[in-house]
Amino acid sequence: MKGLLNKLRQEGVVRSQWVYDTMLKVDRADFIEKNPYFDNSQYLGYNVVISAPHMHAYALEYLSPALTNFRNFNPKNFRILDIGSGSGYLTVCLSKLIDDQGIVVGIEHIPELFLKGKRNIQKHHKNLLDDKKIILLNLDGRNGYKELGPYQLIHVGAAAEKIPQVLVDQLAKGGRMFIPIGLDPDNQYIYVVDKDLNGNVTYKKTISVCYVLLTSKEKQLRGEC
Ligand code: SAH
Repeated sequence: MKGLLNKLRQEGVVRSQWVYDTMLKVDRADFIEKNPYFDNSQYLGYNVVISAPHMHAYALEYLSPALTNFRNFNPKNFRILDIGSGSGYLTVCLSKLIDDQGIVVGIEHIPELFLKGKRNIQKHHKNLLDDKKIILLNLDGRNGYKELGPYQLIHVGAAAEKIPQVLVDQLAKGGRMFIPIGLDPDNQYIYVVDKDLNGNVTYKKTISVCYVLLTSKEKQLRGEC
């Protein structure tokens, strides 16, 4: 992991010590068997991939600064939502980002991937599941998970056509969402959505990306994305 992270740092992808230290705590080898330290996405099965390490790093770099809006906040009250948790890698990183305080809710709609993610996390981070610091749910994530919100951070690991209002509604004041937008892989961008402390929402289009789609289980399994 150190070699991979040093490379990502040289390339300017990992910028902060916070993200470097966070990713160092989660061994990618627990989440993908082959070439875990290569910087590329890899097939997970069920027509989806585990994102490349540079995308996980970008997600953490974009999301983490928003946590400083909560300086006077008890970290135990942090809530983070990870939609399309897949391998479980980023779900654990998000928990490490807040020093295993608070709760990270990971949602995965394919039952086999949900189980795989759970098994991956159990290898070296079983305590997070046992202590309910990570709650994995086998659900359609398109509606988020209102029951445990609002969330200081929301990460969406699959691309939507437009920013779902239902997820904006589940963002806490001061919170931030990272979401790939666009159904055409040649025209897909990460949007960073901020909700300020007064509840005003702003949207920023950032890097060009290529994600699988946030879709129904049936469409995904038919390979329509
Ligand atoms: N972030 C994960 C997975 C990225 S791939 C990782 O890096 O390992 C996107 C994931 O989103 C896949 O696991 C896919 O099954 C899931 N997904 C797609 N549509 C979904 C939906 N409607 N609800 C929940 N999960 C969904």
